Amino acid sequence: MSQSEILFERAQKTTPGGVNSPVRAFKSVGGTPRFIERAHGAYVVDADGREYIDYIGSWGPMILGHGDPDVVAAIRDQAETGVSFGAPTELEIEMAELLCQRVPSMEQVRMCSSGTEATMSAIRLARGYTGRDGIIKFEGCYHGHGDSLLVKAGSGALTFGVPSSPGVPAEFVRHTHTADYNDLASVEALFQAQPDAIACVIVEPIAGNMNMVLPAPGFLQGLMDLCERHGALLILDEVMTGFRVHPGGAQGLYGLRPHLTTLGKILGGGLPVGAFGGRRDIMQKLAPVGPVYQAGTLSGNPLAMAAGLASLRKLDDPALYARLDDYTERLITGLRGAARAAGVPFSAQHLGSMFGLYFAETIPTDFKAVTACDLTAFNRFFHAMLEAGVSLAPSAYEAGFVSAVHGDAELRATLAAASAAFHKLA
Ligand code: PMP
Repeated sequence: MSQSEILFERAQKTTPGGVNSPVRAFKSVGGTPRFIERAHGAYVVDADGREYIDYIGSWGPMILGHGDPDVVAAIRDQAETGVSFGAPTELEIEMAELLCQRVPSMEQVRMCSSGTEATMSAIRLARGYTGRDGIIKFEGCYHGHGDSLLVKAGSGALTFGVPSSPGVPAEFVRHTHTADYNDLASVEALFQAQPDAIACVIVEPIAGNMNMVLPAPGFLQGLMDLCERHGALLILDEVMTGFRVHPGGAQGLYGLRPHLTTLGKILGGGLPVGAFGGRRDIMQKLAPVGPVYQAGTLSGNPLAMAAGLASLRKLDDPALYARLDDYTERLITGLRGAARAAGVPFSAQHLGSMFGLYFAETIPTDFKAVTACDLTAFNRFFHAMLEAGVSLAPSAYEAGFVSAVHGDAELRATLAAASAAFHKLA
C-alpha cells in the first residue's frame, strides 16, 4: 500500500470522506487522492516522495509557485510580530489601498477569510442596499457554499451531481433564479418576470467552475446594462480571476466597472482570505457605519495580509503576466498537437495562465456543451498524467492554473506525458 492509501484510510475514520473539501477526494475520477507533504516551485511532493508538476496551484492562489521566497519571508516576519490581534492594523489599510488602486471599481473594500464569505456578504449587502430579495446566478457557476448560492452550482457541487444541497431550505432558494451563461435573453426574461424584485446578478466573469467557459463578447457589459436598467447590482465574482488573468482582474481585462466585486485565492498568497468591495455608497451600508451586518474574528488577519501584500506587490509586473501567458499558450498548443497526433477528439483554450481542457471537438461556450464532453476520456487522461508525474485538477469541471515558475523543463515533461497519455486513450 502507498502512504497516500494508508493516510486516506486513516483520514476517513475521523473526517467525512477523508478530506476537508469535497473535490479533493478524487470522487469523480476515482482512485486515491495524493496526500501532499510539501511543495516547491512548480511541484508538489506526495507522502510517498513522488513529485508532480502542479497545475492545481491550491485551486488558484499559488500564481507565484510554491515557497516564493518573498512571500515566505513576509509570513515568517509577521509570525514573529504577531499572528492575530482582533484589532485594526496598518497592514489592512495597505491591503485596502492596494486593492482599491488595482481594481478601481472598488472604492471601498472589506476583508474576510474565504471566497464563500466574500460572496455571501456581497449578496447580503446587495439585498440590504436594494431592499430586494431576488438574486440571479448562472447554471454551472460556483460562488462558494453559501445557502442562497448553492443552486445549480459548478465545481464540486457539479462533480457530484447535486444541483442544490439537502440542508438548504426551499424558502431560501426561492429567491435564487438561475440563468444560462452567455445568454442575456435568459437574464432579461428573469428580470421581466420579477419586476423590482431582483437585488443582484452574480457571475464569474470567466467561468472556471464548469471547466473553463469564456464570456461571449458583450455578455458581461450586457449584464451590467441590464442591472442598471432594472435597479439591480452586478456582483463580479473574481475570487478565481482576480489577479489571475490581469493585474486588475477580469474587469481590468474587459474594461468593466461592476457595482460589487468579490476576491479571494491569490489575494492571500495561499493563506485563507477573501474580500468584497465596490461603490462607496453601497459599501457604506455595511456595519458599523450602516445597518447591514458582516463581521469576522480573523478578518484582515495579519498573516494573510502580509502574505497577500507580498504576492500582490510581486504581481505588479507586466513581464510576469507575459511569461505566464507565453507558457500557457505553449502548453495549450502542445496539448492540442499531441491529441491530434494520437487521433483523440480534444480541444483546449487559455486566458493568461488559466486554462480549460475539453474532450470534445470544439471548445464549449455554455454549460450544456461542457457537460457533453467525454468524462471517461478525461478521467483516463487524468490518471495517465498523474502516473507520469503531472497533477491536473481531479475533475473535468475545473479550470487549470500555471504558475510563474513553470518553465521549459516543466513544459517539456508535461507535453511528453500528455503525448503518451493521449496515445493510451486512442
Ligand atoms: N467564487 C469562485 C468563483 C470560486 O472559484 C470559489 C472557490 N473555488 C469561491 C467563490 C469560493 O471560495 P472559497 O473556496 O475560498 O470559499
